[in-house]
Amino acid sequence: MVANSGNRPSETATIFIILDGFRHDYLERADYLRSIAHWQGRVRETFGFISTRPAMCAGVYPEQTNLCFEYKFMPEGVTFRPPLFRLLALANRLIPNRYLRLPATAWLRTTSRAVVPRRTVLVGNMPFHHFPLFEYAEHNLQTEPGYLSVPTIYDILREHQQSYAYYGYARPKRGVEVFKRIYSLLFRNDMHEADRTMTEQFKTALSHHRPNFIHLHYSACDWVGHQFGPDSPQIDDAIRLVDSLVKEVHELALRYYRQVRLLVTGDHGMVEVKSNHDLDNQVLKSIPFSEPDDYVCFRDSTMARFWFFKPGAEEAIRACLGEVPWGQIINEDLMARHHIRFADNSNGDLIFLLDPGAVLMPNYYQGGGVLPKGMHGYDPDIVDNQGAIAIHDGDRSFAISEGSTLDLVDVFPTLLDLHGLPLRQGLCGRSVLGQ
Ligand SMILES: [Zn+2]
Repeated sequence: MVANSGNRPSETATIFIILDGFRHDYLERADYLRSIAHWQGRVRETFGFISTRPAMCAGVYPEQTNLCFEYKFMPEGVTFRPPLFRLLALANRLIPNRYLRLPATAWLRTTSRAVVPRRTVLVGNMPFHHFPLFEYAEHNLQTEPGYLSVPTIYDILREHQQSYAYYGYARPKRGVEVFKRIYSLLFRNDMHEADRTMTEQFKTALSHHRPNFIHLHYSACDWVGHQFGPDSPQIDDAIRLVDSLVKEVHELALRYYRQVRLLVTGDHGMVEVKSNHDLDNQVLKSIPFSEPDDYVCFRDSTMARFWFFKPGAEEAIRACLGEVPWGQIINEDLMARHHIRFADNSNGDLIFLLDPGAVLMPNYYQGGGVLPKGMHGYDPDIVDNQGAIAIHDGDRSFAISEGSTLDLVDVFPTLLDLHGLPLRQGLCGRSVLGQ
């Protein structure tokens, strides 16, 4: 648990629960959540992958923070030092890279100074000699002061001397929990264990502290949706699990607090994967330019991002991508629509977005012939890419009609409103409660 120092007993609590990958229609199968929801609707994710955190915790779009993708182009970065990756590239001549990734990940997690890489970095499928060109976009936790240049919900809670408990992305895991997690994933393929363990920790912590604001993040639907598909029988179990955990958390909180308000949201949905495409063999093989001297490409699962160095490389790649029937180049109109008119090119000189249901394979996260069955990170307007959102607050009326589709940036003002904190002028989003 991450908590600030002001642990004054509280009479009321706001509980913010993110259900990762909880698609818009999963709410119909979440009996408890549906039964307590006073308002429900859909939520459209922000463009990219990590942009969901700034959107929810500060109500900002990617172009306001530059936080959009896990990796940004930054050869002067500190996380992926060239000597280590030169050594790995050398070793890779003799040893397949699948045997090198685990020790390299362990090394980076041990030596990284910044908290987010230290807890989350994974040496995936990117060629070793490409790593030093990139940097982890997030170094700080969203709860830490200075995470963004605009105030986050945690900054505002601190300002109002309110206490919080955080069980979210990159939360600390220690000792037994780390081994339990590795064991359950590697040997039992148990994608429910992490969420159950976190709930037990929350229950123990609540018997000692009464934070004003509680943030929990459950991952089972995302993991299961990727591995088995968004409409698989396994997803029904994951929906039942997270619904039962919401119930446990809510009922326990009602024993400790006079009043409990809940905002439960999917950060995105999950689209069924129908096709996979090899960018190198199908598109880039024919161009007379090579990486990393002429251009560099980061292969995200649903996007390819390019940086160009040699004259002519951009034109050649644009021409090839223009012919591809399973995706599109993000042009200026789309950049404006998705709020990704970035101040610099660290997220890419060009972004190619795949059509819903298509994935790049291999990409820098997945390879080795293991195809995901579900994916997100498509055009945010694609319905299956949208999450469900539900609010429990019987005392308040709602300014936005039930069933509406919100933007993820609306979560922040709604949370402030739900918690009784003032909204500053000029926010991008709007509160469902209408303060
Ligand atoms: Zn995911």
